[in-house]
Amino acid sequence: MNSSKRLLLGTKNRGKVAELSEMLRGLNIEVISLADLASLADVEESGSTFAENARLKAVAYARHSQMPTLADDSGFEVEALGWRPGVLSARYGGATTSFDAKIEMILREIGASGIASRAARFSCAVAFAAPDGSLIAETEGVVRGVVAEEPRGVGGFGYDPIFVPDGFSISFAEMTSAEKGALSHRGRALLQIIPYLRTFFGNLT
Ligand code: IMP
Repeated sequence: MNSSKRLLLGTKNRGKVAELSEMLRGLNIEVISLADLASLADVEESGSTFAENARLKAVAYARHSQMPTLADDSGFEVEALGWRPGVLSARYGGATTSFDAKIEMILREIGASGIASRAARFSCAVAFAAPDGSLIAETEGVVRGVVAEEPRGVGGFGYDPIFVPDGFSISFAEMTSAEKGALSHRGRALLQIIPYLRTFFGNLT
């Protein structure tokens, strides 16, 4: 494939790479991730919002790689915990702590909060930058639901086993990736940015 039709995903998270690659499949572009460019230094997620972090990553990785770059910043937000862990979702309880342990912590903290609400949401901001680092577009997606009483299912990644989206009785981890993608925060943010990708890559010769 023409190398000008190559898109860099500004993440090493295998769950995100799998989901984003599947959602971009119809675009006739080659999708690679930071895992394929070992030499690229990590960009610090120093922003205080998903949008800020997505923008930071897309712009910096595009500049470093000189490739069109799509980055997402996302997280899990729980009402009973004051909508934490939010932007700190990946680092919650320590960056190297397993998700089994993070999930256990969340369930324990909700129990200890004394707050009855199980409301939760996943949020995702996506940013798309040109090879010179100029920002082309940014979008956001949210999916609302509740925190399950205990982890269920083995699909997806991260906090998926304890998230049951509104209108469903199964967790994200019990869905196929296509089912999750059709209603997820990432799917919703990506759907809005796809027209910009089509225009950008469609304009390349
Ligand atoms: P970051 O966007 O790299 O800062 O990391 C986002 C973190 O939020 C992930 O490591 C997960 O902990 C959580 N997260 C984001 N999206 C999802 C999802 O679709 N399912 C489960 N957990 C997610």
